Amino acid sequence: MLISGRLAISANSKQMWLSAISRGFSSDVGSGATKRICIVGSGPAGFYAAQYILKHLNGSVVDVIEKLPVPFGLVRYGVAPDHPEVKNVINTFTKTAEHKNFNFWGNVALGKDVSLQNLRERYHAVLLTYGADQDRQLNIPNEDQPNVLSARKFVEWYNGLPGAQHLNPILGGQTVTILGQGNVAVDVARMLLSPLDVLRVDTTEYALETLSRSKVEQVYLVGRRGPLQAAFTIKELREMLKLPNVQTLWRPDDFTDVPAQIPNLQRPRKRLTELMLKSLSEQSASTSNKKQFLPIFLRAPKFIKDNKIELTVTKLQNDIAVPTNRSEHLQADLLLRSIGYKSTCVDGGICFDKRSGCVYNEYGRVLKDAASKTVDKGLYVAGWLGTGPTGVILTTMNGAFSVAKTICDDILSNEVDTSKAKLGLEAKQFKRLVTWSHWERIDQAEMQAGQKLCKPREKFVDVEEMLKVAGL
Ligand code: FAD
Repeated sequence: MLISGRLAISANSKQMWLSAISRGFSSDVGSGATKRICIVGSGPAGFYAAQYILKHLNGSVVDVIEKLPVPFGLVRYGVAPDHPEVKNVINTFTKTAEHKNFNFWGNVALGKDVSLQNLRERYHAVLLTYGADQDRQLNIPNEDQPNVLSARKFVEWYNGLPGAQHLNPILGGQTVTILGQGNVAVDVARMLLSPLDVLRVDTTEYALETLSRSKVEQVYLVGRRGPLQAAFTIKELREMLKLPNVQTLWRPDDFTDVPAQIPNLQRPRKRLTELMLKSLSEQSASTSNKKQFLPIFLRAPKFIKDNKIELTVTKLQNDIAVPTNRSEHLQADLLLRSIGYKSTCVDGGICFDKRSGCVYNEYGRVLKDAASKTVDKGLYVAGWLGTGPTGVILTTMNGAFSVAKTICDDILSNEVDTSKAKLGLEAKQFKRLVTWSHWERIDQAEMQAGQKLCKPREKFVDVEEMLKVAGL
């Protein structure tokens, strides 16, 4: 996919051809009408936006820069290994990447290898979709103990994100307590309680090896609020309830007022609550040899001491958890904090709201400053970086399509000036640039490595190794 659509080279165009080679890419050499758009981040938001722009904006070229040598963001490094069907979106992304006007610039990080100013000089529009790769803290005493980890790091560990392989989670104790009740928390609980053969699909070998030695028997899932506010969804709960050799045990006291509320609930919440109540009514008092999944509501973390956590009992006031003066202890050989992801500001030129962890924007148009609400023309944001870390891939897709439409509209109505030709990035700016063909080599090698282990792929977890396989 280096250069397409230019067969006959006149003397005049030879120089352009050579300059295109030096840039590494292009299908539009010399065309003044080319609209150059740079997307930062190759997760779902980046790929869906690219797909929309290439389909709806004639004469556009989309360059996607990605800090890792490999694409797909959280689809590769977040989605649980036992959810291979979710990863099928990769096929759609690959089709977009094969478009002649799409270029992948892997191993290029905004804020490190290239500045936002540089991108804005070289592109008519820049769309930021670099996601949310940090996590929120509990801000309670002893959170830095070695047996306290973020669920994000644990997810990255089993999914093989470069740099996460040395996490070494303590799985020698019987009890893991997860603080937070979202779908990421449930994913982590499932990873800890599932039989290994289910996880083999896409879990890295080193994580499988550690999980095979795990002594974990009980996983608590602690939330500040009640069952009616549970953040996990019905699909994730159903999966837990169906896990072989795992017993889900609820605390009846948490549900005292719940049945009376059922008639007032909206449909998805109603179905989820009914499922919890059904499971509660069917739970047997007798303890079996099974492992246990133990959701606990109305408890807020207070402090950690060794392998115990002190929890404040809470009560609900207008759906908000307020502390009571009662507390209790819970065993936690390993504690996993799962209270949300957050974005960071990777370049000083971005108008970033540190409090919410999002880029200030209005419907995807980035603001120059939050106070005046003036739009910074030609700069956009989509995905978790713009909305905050909530929503599934489908939500991200809808948001990315909507921002991509705004970009197309702004360009077509000349809100964004595309009258001057822009060059885009040049390959010579970067040391070991990963193109889509390089990624395809890495992909092939991972699938071959997987074949030997009877699994679809075995990911490289070392950037240097990836670059070597790519031939860089
Ligand atoms: P991301 O997917 O995070 O993509 C951001 C990209 O930007 C990454 O590739 C990153 O490497 C890159 N980047 C970061 N910094 C830079 C930089 N400085 N320069 C260049 N590139 C950079 N949704 C579902 O529908 N089903 C699921 O089963 C599911 N499971 C999930 C499990 C977990 C643990 C998590 C956290 C999320 C899950 N989701 C799931 C939600 C889904 O992953 C998100 O909706 C989606 O990935 C958000 O897309 P994004 O493009 O905004 O961010």
